[in-house]
Amino acid sequence: MQTKIEHNFLKSEKGQLADKILRNCVHCGFCTATCPTYQILGDELDGPRGRIYQIKEMLEGAAVTKDTLLHLDRCLTCRACETTCPSGVEYGHLLEIGRSEVEKRVKRSLAQRILRKVLLNVLPFSNRFNTLLKMGQVFRPALPNVLKKQIPKKVKLAELSLKAHKRKMLILDGCVQPSLSPEINHATRQVLNALDIELISFSGCCGAINQHLSDEKNALAMIKNNIDRLISQFDNGLEGIVMTASGCGAMFKDYPHLLRNDELYKEKAKLVADKTFDLTQVINTEELKTKLNVTQENIAVHTPCTLQHAQKLPMNIEAIFSSCGYQLSSIKDKHLCCGSAGTYSITQPKLSEQLREQRLSGLMVDQPDLIVTANIGCLHHLNAGSTVPVRHWIEIIAEDLK
Ligand code: SF4
Ligand code: SF4
Repeated sequence: MQTKIEHNFLKSEKGQLADKILRNCVHCGFCTATCPTYQILGDELDGPRGRIYQIKEMLEGAAVTKDTLLHLDRCLTCRACETTCPSGVEYGHLLEIGRSEVEKRVKRSLAQRILRKVLLNVLPFSNRFNTLLKMGQVFRPALPNVLKKQIPKKVKLAELSLKAHKRKMLILDGCVQPSLSPEINHATRQVLNALDIELISFSGCCGAINQHLSDEKNALAMIKNNIDRLISQFDNGLEGIVMTASGCGAMFKDYPHLLRNDELYKEKAKLVADKTFDLTQVINTEELKTKLNVTQENIAVHTPCTLQHAQKLPMNIEAIFSSCGYQLSSIKDKHLCCGSAGTYSITQPKLSEQLREQRLSGLMVDQPDLIVTANIGCLHHLNAGSTVPVRHWIEIIAEDLK
């Protein structure tokens, strides 16, 4: 695609990157066919190729309107389009530039500004989120069903007897996960203990919420803080960091891109990304299957976009389950996003519900007894609309340990 990016913007590193990405696009439109928002809305401007055009026009100096903001806001950042694109267009990185530019040129409504402020001031802070969730749990019995499904019951976790092991890794606690689903990291500790890996908690937020809400400054501050703390832990002999939420894993693996212009941090960011592992990458399946007594079957796997499209690990969960002897049910349209997508279910509730219905119908074709996934956001979003339980895959493995 030919481009005529505005001279001043083209002089910047972001301008050059956007130009390079845009020039790779041959506007074939293959990506449009796999875009979840295009499938639902049927408007070219709500598909990847249309969004690429809108970003191109904005960077070339065309007027930007609230419509541009809307079409970019409706993008899930699921990156299914990247998986489909035969020309290797880095749509996600282009969108990031497009969003930060549109944010500077179009003023959001007051309601949107307040909502985004609230999200930024609550979600990345586990203590604040925990306080709010506890209040919700107190009033849960009196709430209507629709809201009840959004607030999980308090869980009581059994005491674990874990051993010290030679192999030691960190495990990210994350921001909302310790309060919403503490059972996930609890189950992970059980399973990795059986595989002779000791886990040490690493607190904090990966920075994805701020990054996705165009709060770049605070996102970078969080990322640098994480990197400094991680490097000192790696220096102490810890092997790497395990991610039980694929969204956080994808974010950690993107640190080198986000810090590419920072002389002080760019090498450290690469080291952190190299030592970041999705939980599926840490499991030794041969060893694991000797420790299991498989009791559960007819399981549908929902692979989060952050695992299949961002981390390019599309079949890892299925491979572990199949090798261990679990029976998986067939599903349709594996590439589709469930509509959770970070804060999307809050900022785009209607579309997010439609996407969930569509995803659930693809997961339920074989009438599974259970759906498993690998990301806290997908788990709670799907669970709120599902007729069968939705759980993290590691919980099933932990329950079947001999
Ligand atoms: S598939 Fe790739 S090259 Fe084709 S229009 Fe989409 S982004 Fe451009
Ligand atoms: S990231 Fe997802 S929603 Fe956004 S354009 Fe690509 S396929 Fe569509």
